[in-house]
Amino acid sequence: MINFDLLVAGCDTRCKHCYVNGGPLKRMDGDDAVLCVERLDAIAAYLPDEANFTLDHEPMGHPEIGRIIGAAAGTKHIRYHHHGMTTGLGIMRRDDKEAVLDRYLASGFDSFGITIHGGEALHDEIVRRKGAFTSSIAFGEFIKAHGAELEVSLMVNRFFPEQQNEISAILDRLRPDWVYIGLPIFTPHKNGLDYEPYRASVQDVETLGEWFKTLGKDDAELIEKARESSVGLAVKKLINGQDLMTLFDAPQGEKYLAVHPDCLLYMGNSGAETECLGNLRRLDPEAVAARIKEMPDNRDYDAFYDRSVLPETKRMIEALIGLPQNTVYGDFPSVIYRGLTALNTATRILDLHRREERCPSVG
Ligand code: SF4
Repeated sequence: MINFDLLVAGCDTRCKHCYVNGGPLKRMDGDDAVLCVERLDAIAAYLPDEANFTLDHEPMGHPEIGRIIGAAAGTKHIRYHHHGMTTGLGIMRRDDKEAVLDRYLASGFDSFGITIHGGEALHDEIVRRKGAFTSSIAFGEFIKAHGAELEVSLMVNRFFPEQQNEISAILDRLRPDWVYIGLPIFTPHKNGLDYEPYRASVQDVETLGEWFKTLGKDDAELIEKARESSVGLAVKKLINGQDLMTLFDAPQGEKYLAVHPDCLLYMGNSGAETECLGNLRRLDPEAVAARIKEMPDNRDYDAFYDRSVLPETKRMIEALIGLPQNTVYGDFPSVIYRGLTALNTATRILDLHRREERCPSVG
């Protein structure tokens, strides 16, 4: 699987759990956005694997989103992966929000999602935007009123046990078609540590077991998943012989690229760019497809770190023992990245604020 993340507009929030460096961002020009969709389609014609692209970070805030969605729906070789996630801030302040939603629906995209971090005050604190909670709820009601499907993602944090009734009331009000329960992952982004004070513990997740059942979820599975991605379990695995290099060797099967508002194409997911491949406006589709095929997969591990900088297992164990053992993350690799961050391990991620690390040869 190959996914291109086309960054057409920045976010109105600066979420503490964000692992893609979301936040305010220069908007992509509307003509450029349509051109980039066409160029990605041309590149995908030379790619053997399933190729997708997404529109991020807050496409519904783009003034020309109707035109961009129309282009996304019309591709031949690449599939537009419509995740539909939004804070609602971008669309709910628009005078033409009905027309924007109609355009999505007419293009066959009728499912949308919002993320909830708790009651209003906690939610707004985590996404660092006052009014964000109100906007998300308003968006949920807006799309339900128009017959679209609503998914609510609940990002479990340590305050959930005391806020579960408040969250249930939100769900009763919205009556979503689907509820997803997740634990934020950790990746070594510049804001990666900001969410740490909110992380749930294994005990918090266990306490929520009965409540998960009321949401129709498999509580045992969720609790087991949390235990599997706790710091304590990672320590045990490393003590029992888990080798860091083996983790890096495991096949990943996924390749991520990002296209920035200036049309520069990077290897790496948004916020984890490791190499600039050039300007999508001018790249030869066949040549860039050949280059992408050669590049290693980059979902995890190598996506962030060179193997040469990995610490000895003993140091990694010591670093993880220095962290709260019951803290849980979204997956096991997150715990490894958390340990590497505690050791100040250098990442491969380009610092795009430094001119020489951008894409000097293509401007
Ligand atoms: S989590 Fe999503 S909405 Fe929040 S800052 Fe990141 S990209 Fe933007």
